[in-house]
Amino acid sequence: MEVILLDIEGTTTPISFVHETLFPYVLSTLDEFLKAHWTDQELQFHIQALEEQARQDQPHYDAPQIISSDPDSTRKSLIDNIQWQMKLDRKTSALKGLQGYMWRFGYQSGQLQGVMFDDAVQAIKNWTQEGKRVYIYSSGSVEAQKLIFGYSDHGNLLQYISGHYDTKVGAKTSSDSYRKIAEDIKTKPENTLFISDNIREIEAANQAGMQVVVSVRPGNAPLPSHNFAESSDFTTIH
Ligand SMILES: [Mg+2]
Repeated sequence: MEVILLDIEGTTTPISFVHETLFPYVLSTLDEFLKAHWTDQELQFHIQALEEQARQDQPHYDAPQIISSDPDSTRKSLIDNIQWQMKLDRKTSALKGLQGYMWRFGYQSGQLQGVMFDDAVQAIKNWTQEGKRVYIYSSGSVEAQKLIFGYSDHGNLLQYISGHYDTKVGAKTSSDSYRKIAEDIKTKPENTLFISDNIREIEAANQAGMQVVVSVRPGNAPLPSHNFAESSDFTTIH
């Protein structure tokens, strides 16, 4: 094995981190954050993307529209739209873009820290020492991934990670995505081990020819019956 490809949620990091820390951070700081950063160019870029998304959503959903008028009304309508998207757990690029932007400030100010399982961190260090390359493939944006690993509760782990992939390469349940990643990192799928808590992702990677291990962690969804190897301590994987 040359390459280890890791999922994040339910694999290196508790699923609860996203739902009990990252998402609540966005919701609880949104109003204050928008006020504080209102004139930042980057925020205005994200607002434009959210407006465009709201227009596209209009015929299909009961999406709250974003009003372009005075800053107070615009901000209030933005908050309605963002709360609505997050309640539906939508994964639009516009929403992810704003969330990533807010998380960056949260991590940099020390209000947020990426939570990692101890054995996952130890294993990542061991694999690197053994000469293996470690990559991340997560549905969170590459920027969000780098923040979790860069500002983790085990320090900055980015030095151990050779590269990051998100759903821009394709869906995590599509075997083509895993073929593309192997090609991109110049290895054969057979030389790559993919670890994830999601059986559909595991099946897709396996179909692409990768070796696979199912991550078993506290708080993960119950697994359907399967014939793949399982692990709850990655330091035993070599
Ligand atoms: Mg996962």
